[in-house]
Amino acid sequence: AKKAGRNTLRFFDPLMQETINMRVDLERELKKAIEQKQFELYYQVQMNSAGQPSGAEALIRWRHPERGIISPIQFIPVAEETGLITQIGEWVLNQACLQLQAWQLDQASKDFSLAINVSAKQFLQPDFANQVKNSIRSFHIDNTKLKLELTESMLIDNIEYVIHTMNTLGEIGIQFSLDDFGTGYSSLQYLKMLPLSQLKIDQSFVRDLATDNSNKTIVLTIITMAHSLGLNVIAEGVETDEQLQLLNAHGCGNYQGYYFSEPLSINEFNHQYMQFKNN
Ligand code: C2E
Ligand code: CA
Ligand code: CA
Ligand code: CA
Repeated sequence: AKKAGRNTLRFFDPLMQETINMRVDLERELKKAIEQKQFELYYQVQMNSAGQPSGAEALIRWRHPERGIISPIQFIPVAEETGLITQIGEWVLNQACLQLQAWQLDQASKDFSLAINVSAKQFLQPDFANQVKNSIRSFHIDNTKLKLELTESMLIDNIEYVIHTMNTLGEIGIQFSLDDFGTGYSSLQYLKMLPLSQLKIDQSFVRDLATDNSNKTIVLTIITMAHSLGLNVIAEGVETDEQLQLLNAHGCGNYQGYYFSEPLSINEFNHQYMQFKNN
């Protein structure tokens, strides 16, 4: 189960099976997975421009007893449709806070930030802000190291409520990163209104950075715009030195991708990046 980032198994391929039966099965299996705690977080390192690890993004995996590791691409959409995402998301939040607590006790990792992905349905739950506050409180972590990754599409329809919740959490130091930036519909108007600290450039733009001139222009424009709005920028999906050099030359500042590391199990991650490697 080592290279889970890339070589995950794909059982629930909608093109190959009867979609409806599959959905029912998957929903039933997901409920069981929640009860039996079959989920696991993997951690992908984030690097700063000095080449130092500054934190990680937590990415969920489903360790199925018979089927092995299942990618979130296979089950998060169904979890969102069925509403099970709120329970899964709450587990992710608590697990992430538990991990931050461990890192904050270690000299080498005490300043690490940890980003988690938050689905629209989860974020729009009336008690979401309280959930976050409760988790932070029960694990005694430094609030400012928890980062929530939101996507553009979830913001637009509920902009006022979203801003309100973001402000509630922003006041206690929680950070927000706008995920998959460039793939949605955010206007500059929205960007200005949202209390964000970071834009995350989607990997689709990073992929052909060195070969596709329009993608290069898009990336450079995002970086310039973000900085002029006082936001920091992270590029996801950095796979080559060439991409890194280009991004670095244009002041991107933060990087994540296979060039540095795939997402790792907690033991592997701690072994790489923590001083005390005994978890
Ligand atoms: P995302 O948030 O855009 O995460 C980035 C995805 O790109 C991850 O896939 C990551 O493993 C992969 N990746 C990282 N570096 C590279 C690279 O250099 N090249 C390429 N080609 N890919 C790279 P993963 O882990 O399969 O996650 C897929 C999506 O599932 C995530 O996309 C996110 O939308 C969702 N997801 C993952 N964990 C959670 C979670 O805890 N909660 C929710 N709601 N969604 C999650
Ligand atoms: Ca993400
Ligand atoms: Ca992405
Ligand atoms: Ca995404």
